Amino acid sequence: MGFFSSKQTIGILGGGQLGKMLLNTTYQWDLQTKVMDPSAEAPARIACNHFVQGDLMDYQTVVDFGKEVDVLTIEIENINADALATLEQQGVKVYPQAAVLKVIQNKCHQKQFYQKNKIPTASFQLFNSKEELKDAVGRGLISFPFVWKSESMGYDGYGVQIVRSNQNLEQIKEGACMAEELVAIEKELGIIVCRSPKGETRCYPCVEMEFHPEANQVEYVLSPARISKDVAKKAEEIALAVSKAFQHVGLLAVELFLTKDGEIWVNEVAPRPHNSGHYSIEASYTSQFEQHIRALLDLPLGNTANKVSGVTVNLVGKEGHNGPVHYKNIEHILAIEGVNPHIYGKKETRPFRKMGHITIVNKELSVARKIAEDVKETIEVITK
Ligand code: ADP
Repeated sequence: MGFFSSKQTIGILGGGQLGKMLLNTTYQWDLQTKVMDPSAEAPARIACNHFVQGDLMDYQTVVDFGKEVDVLTIEIENINADALATLEQQGVKVYPQAAVLKVIQNKCHQKQFYQKNKIPTASFQLFNSKEELKDAVGRGLISFPFVWKSESMGYDGYGVQIVRSNQNLEQIKEGACMAEELVAIEKELGIIVCRSPKGETRCYPCVEMEFHPEANQVEYVLSPARISKDVAKKAEEIALAVSKAFQHVGLLAVELFLTKDGEIWVNEVAPRPHNSGHYSIEASYTSQFEQHIRALLDLPLGNTANKVSGVTVNLVGKEGHNGPVHYKNIEHILAIEGVNPHIYGKKETRPFRKMGHITIVNKELSVARKIAEDVKETIEVITK
């Protein structure tokens, strides 16, 4: 395997926290890395061998960066996918493949992909513009409530809105979109699947995501999910079907809804390391980051089982605080057994900005969940 202790290089597009955590494995294995990010202060900068500041959406910038590496991956989805297609044609190994990314970058195309591949998902209708959607509502073809989703550039719920009235409808952004059935959600689940170029596939255990009611951001991730064996089995079958349909290489995080009626529907996927898999650094035999690197290099995939239960708490900026960050009470949470903080290294905090995460491990999931709540109440991401 030519990558170990050699000049062959892994390129990573995006230098955020996900990139930084991928670099733990490349350090451990003495693999060369090159990272590109628009920000000179990107978190991954401190742990890569070469850093390039550049625009990830600019075709030529991405092509020029990719030409210099032997295998190229991403840690964010907003990348110029045409540049990735060009690089593939030039013989660079690009994982996830450009075609996979193209489908995922557009929420409407993603939904059509599920429909075409008979993957269970909430019902939806597509519209070319806000006007078209309003017209359909006006003619009674769609009724309130429904979920509006913008075709593109959505992340952490910013391109998603529950529409309950004409007033809500007025507030949505212009542009192509979908109206999706408002799902009666029992639990939000997630399964990370990893696939190697040979087609070897491994699933992580199903996790459960608890959401912050206002910010619409994940507050706790519990591994394993508190669900029956039957539900876990069904969720895994669906995640594997999605993985098979995409034929991706590397990680694919599959977000699922368990409905009040006991159905499991795919919400969306991300072809990269994912927040819902951070627990794996401490709780699994193989972390999601190591697994992704294994897949990129066509190495055998590692054991995805949990060694212990894990609960991850997102560390987000406190409301009312903008500016240089201070982690208040971090010494108190470090006194609790099984508490593992990860600080991403962003200099400035903003309300609800993801600044880090903390994984609590314990033999008992219920104990880890209780400690997670204490941790959440104790630590504060503020400005001094
Ligand atoms: P993003 O890509 O911005 O994360 P998602 O599509 O994952 O957007 O939606 C964010 C959250 O909004 C979901 O985790 C879920 O809580 C809620 N949501 C999304 N779609 C629906 C739906 N059809 N019905 C009910 N809630 C939904």
